[in-house]
Amino acid sequence: MEAGALFTLRDQARAERFQKLLLAWAPDRPVKIVHVCGTHEITIAQHGLRSLLPENVEVLEGPGCPVCVTSTQDFDCALQLAERGAILCTFGDMTRVPGTRMTLEEARAEGADVRVVLSAADAVEVARRNPQKPVVFFAVGFETTAPGTAAVLLDHPPDNFYVLVSHKLIPPALEALLSTPPVEISAFLAPGHVSTVIGAGAYRGIAARFHVPIVVAGFEPLDILFAIALVLRQLKEGRAEVENAYPRSVTEAGNLRAQALLREVFAVGPALWRGIGEIPGSGLYLREEFAKHDAKREFGVEGRVGEEKPPGCRCSDVLMARAVPTDCPFYGHACTPLTPIGPCMVGAEGACNIWYRYGGRPRL
Ligand code: SF4
Repeated sequence: MEAGALFTLRDQARAERFQKLLLAWAPDRPVKIVHVCGTHEITIAQHGLRSLLPENVEVLEGPGCPVCVTSTQDFDCALQLAERGAILCTFGDMTRVPGTRMTLEEARAEGADVRVVLSAADAVEVARRNPQKPVVFFAVGFETTAPGTAAVLLDHPPDNFYVLVSHKLIPPALEALLSTPPVEISAFLAPGHVSTVIGAGAYRGIAARFHVPIVVAGFEPLDILFAIALVLRQLKEGRAEVENAYPRSVTEAGNLRAQALLREVFAVGPALWRGIGEIPGSGLYLREEFAKHDAKREFGVEGRVGEEKPPGCRCSDVLMARAVPTDCPFYGHACTPLTPIGPCMVGAEGACNIWYRYGGRPRL
C-alpha cells in the first residue's frame, strides 16, 4: 500500500458517497448483519459507523472475541496446570476471565507463576530460559493465531514446552449461529484476518446452504462501509453469495502455507464455546506426533464445565448476536472493564468492553 493510502480509507467525502449507496440499497425490512471480529467492532464503534446505516439495518458482533468464547473447562485446566507448578504463559486478557474457581490473575496472587506473553514464540523462549520447569502455553484464538502455535511446534521446541490448545475455527461457528433457532441473521461480514488465512472460498458452502450473503471485510472504516453496501445490494437483489471486499489481503484460496501448517500439527474435532455450547468440527487438537507437547495429555488435567456466566449476565445472547451490550442490566454499572462480571467485558475484543470504551451504544 502506498504512503498515504490509509487516509483514503478514512476519507470523509468517500464515506459520504458510501452512505448514499447504503441509503440507495436500504432494505424495506429489518436487516441484521453479524460480524465475528473484535477488530471490526472496534472500527465500527470508534468511528461511529452505525450512525451512517439506514434505520432498519443493525450490525452486531457475534462470537468474534477468542477470550470471550474460551470455555470454563479450559480455564479450569490452565488453573490446575499453574497450581501444579507449571509456568503458565498466555495472552493478557486471559488472566482476568473467571474460570470455575478463580481467575489466573488471582491464582498468580496466590503464588502461581502466570506470565503474559505476546506470542507462542515468546512462551518457547520462557521454556528455554527455565529448562528445569514445565512451561505451558495456553493457546487461544482463531485461524489467525493457530498457525503461530503450529509453527513453534514444528520448530523443535524444548522438551519442557507444552501447549494447552484452545484454538477454534470460525466457519463452524457461523454454521452454528445459522442452525440454532431462532435465527434472525440476514448476512455475515467475514473477518479479514481469518479470511486471509482460510480464503474467501471457505465460506461458499455456508452461503449456498443457508442462503445467506457473506462479505469478507477489511478493518478500515471505508472497508466496512463498502462490505455493508455489498451485503445490502445482495439482499436487494435476492442473492446469497460470498463476495470479497478486502482483496488487498484476502484471496479465494487463502494462505496455503498457513493452512498446511495447521493440517500438519492439528486435527479437527468438536469444541466447547463459552456461552454457545459445543460446536462440531470447530476445535483444533494436537496430532499424535506432537503428543509429548500436549499439556492436557502429559499432565492428565481435566477441566469441568463451570458456570458460563453469572445469573443475569447476557454474554450468551451477546455472543449469539441476539442482544447488544446495553441490553444487559449490568452493563456500565455493576459490570465495567475494571469490575467485569462476564467474559465479554474482559476481552479487549469483547462487545461489552468495546462499547464501554467507546461510550455506550455507538449510534451517534
Ligand atoms: S455487560 Fe457484563 S454481565 Fe452484561 S453481558 Fe456484558 S459482560 Fe456479561
